[in-house]
Amino acid sequence: MNINALVRPNILKMKAYSSARDEFKGAASVFLDANENPYPNDGLNRYPDPLAMAVKREIAKIKGVDTENIFLGNGSDEVIDVLIRIFCEPRVDNIITLPPTYGMYQVSADTCDVAVKTVPLTVDFQPKVEEILREADEHSKILFICSPNNPTANNIEASRILNLLNAFKGIVVVDEAYIDFSTQQSCIEWISTFPNLVVMQTFSKAWGMAGIRLGMAFGSKEVIDLMNKVKPPYNVNELTQRAALDLLKNKAAKKDANVKEILAEREKMAAILRGYDFVEKVYPSDANFILVKIPRPNEMYQWLLTHGIVVRNRHTVTLCEGCLRITVGTPEENRELLRVMKESQFLIA
Ligand SMILES: *Cc1c(COP(=O)(O)O)cnc(C)c1O
Repeated sequence: MNINALVRPNILKMKAYSSARDEFKGAASVFLDANENPYPNDGLNRYPDPLAMAVKREIAKIKGVDTENIFLGNGSDEVIDVLIRIFCEPRVDNIITLPPTYGMYQVSADTCDVAVKTVPLTVDFQPKVEEILREADEHSKILFICSPNNPTANNIEASRILNLLNAFKGIVVVDEAYIDFSTQQSCIEWISTFPNLVVMQTFSKAWGMAGIRLGMAFGSKEVIDLMNKVKPPYNVNELTQRAALDLLKNKAAKKDANVKEILAEREKMAAILRGYDFVEKVYPSDANFILVKIPRPNEMYQWLLTHGIVVRNRHTVTLCEGCLRITVGTPEENRELLRVMKESQFLIA
């Protein structure tokens, strides 16, 4: 597949911004090239590494890829935005999403004036492969697949992802924000086979660092180079790079322990919820949240709120009618949620 043929002509033609740190990468004792303030301020008076190479080297070790196959963004949200701006000509090209799914694909496309074609998932939340391929036209540049999917919590079957990768003529993005909670393998291993595959992951969920805003993308060198060309020069700030390095070097075991605890809690919660007679359905989860179907979701949502508990009401989302999306919290938080939900039974009768 010829990636360049998918790229907007202006992006192919443009020259990337060249910062002081891009133009001089060597060692020196006096740096007077970036108009920085010379007085130390905990090291923050200097611009950060534009490519965050130290962070990428640690990620490369963990993920088994080369640093040239990694892009880092100001959250996954920036990854989505950069991809749309590289490949989608406003008012000409389109993206395909598979609702119910993450809302940012649509929002990012809207801000770029790029059309969105939607092909809803089946009732058991799997992509309709044939229908997606029928819906795709020569302007369909990106297909977004979220696995495990938000808000439905399930894995997208690997065989369907593979079928789409083999047949779709544009970029296939697999958003793996919740992959660390899943029994399914990451698609990262396929990036060497499919130059049009981009796998997104994030520090916001399993790593417990939503506050530092750090998203990852894995893909062919061709696509990653384009992303680096288009991104703002210092999109991952120095504090974030430091926090990420500390995390990757010293706190991977803590992350694994957290994930294990969350998975155990998820199973416990799901079993208890299934036992409540007013609960119609607890959907299977491969993520750190549970989708629950109940007869009166709006009332339950309000009831929980009056008790200081906020969940996500997904009742108005197609295929999620009657559903609340509940994040797995600490054991104490989950106990409190289950207690308050149980007490609400009189509302449901
Ligand atoms: C939470 C989430 C993300 C993470 O976004 P960040 O910008 O990295 O915080 C990405 N994709 C999905 C589907 C999510 O639910």
